[in-house]
Amino acid sequence: MTLINRLCGVVAALAVTLQFSANAEAGAPQQKTQAPGYYRLMLGDFEVTALSDGTFQMDAGKILTNITPKELDAALARSFLKDPVETSVNGFLINTGSKLVLVDTGAGTLFGPTLGKLLSNLKASGYRPEQVDEIYITHMHDDHVGGLSADGKRVFPNAIVRAAQQEADFWLSKAHMDAAPQDRKDGFQSAMNMLNPYVSAGKFKPFNGDTELVPGIRAVATPGHTAGHTVYVVESRGQKLVLWGDLMHAAAVQFPDPSVTIQYDMESGMAATQRKKVFADAAEKRSWVAGAHLSFPGIGHLRTAGSGYAFVPVNYGALN
Ligand SMILES: [Zn+2]
Repeated sequence: MTLINRLCGVVAALAVTLQFSANAEAGAPQQKTQAPGYYRLMLGDFEVTALSDGTFQMDAGKILTNITPKELDAALARSFLKDPVETSVNGFLINTGSKLVLVDTGAGTLFGPTLGKLLSNLKASGYRPEQVDEIYITHMHDDHVGGLSADGKRVFPNAIVRAAQQEADFWLSKAHMDAAPQDRKDGFQSAMNMLNPYVSAGKFKPFNGDTELVPGIRAVATPGHTAGHTVYVVESRGQKLVLWGDLMHAAAVQFPDPSVTIQYDMESGMAATQRKKVFADAAEKRSWVAGAHLSFPGIGHLRTAGSGYAFVPVNYGALN
């Protein structure tokens, strides 16, 4: 073999090696998506579908109240979290067999691009917005009513929207908006933008106090976070699921210590009282619970733990 031949052999081998390592470096492209954000659970005869609207970064240190920075850091560290905390926004769809009921609608376009995915997840879960018969609103903050309308039109054209009368009286009142501080006026305007297309179509029907809305689903007044905050209790064949809305926001902090509050509470003392009452009831009755801001799918149980509670997320169920 001549020197030239040997050199050619070495160069060829080197080229093959470089080729291999280049391929290994490129690898398969990372996908960076999750599965469609829905999770199904049977509750007696009812089918419950948790729908993800997405997540947002919650600046816990800035907005949680009645807690010291040191206590907050310790509570987050115990749950392997750091501030800001990635926080879910969830809605819940209940098919009772005769009615399709959606509880809360996510943020729509009001909270930026990481939210507003509830509608696409509802479709991915096998339903169409026209099939929704009723929509129950826990309260009228942006991240709960933002998915109701788009460009001034109803996203759910056949649905009746229901919420507590006190909630409607507060957020849909121009007088209240005018009296609110400048930085709070937007909240009123967006509630009006979202609800008014239903109001003018005769499809908004507020209710008063604790009321059964369809067989198996009833509203329970829990004012505090807002004036007309409502939880919805779903029951079928002896099984019970309580949809909490915004009774709590920060699982890592408020389960161990339900007295921790949040700036957005209208009456933080009353909000904490409602939270303690509903937590105690859930732990005692061993009922299912679901939260709008619990990590998706946001469904599970509560048990007592020390002076507070621990949340046990739903065990995965294949439903077949
Ligand atoms: Zn919320």
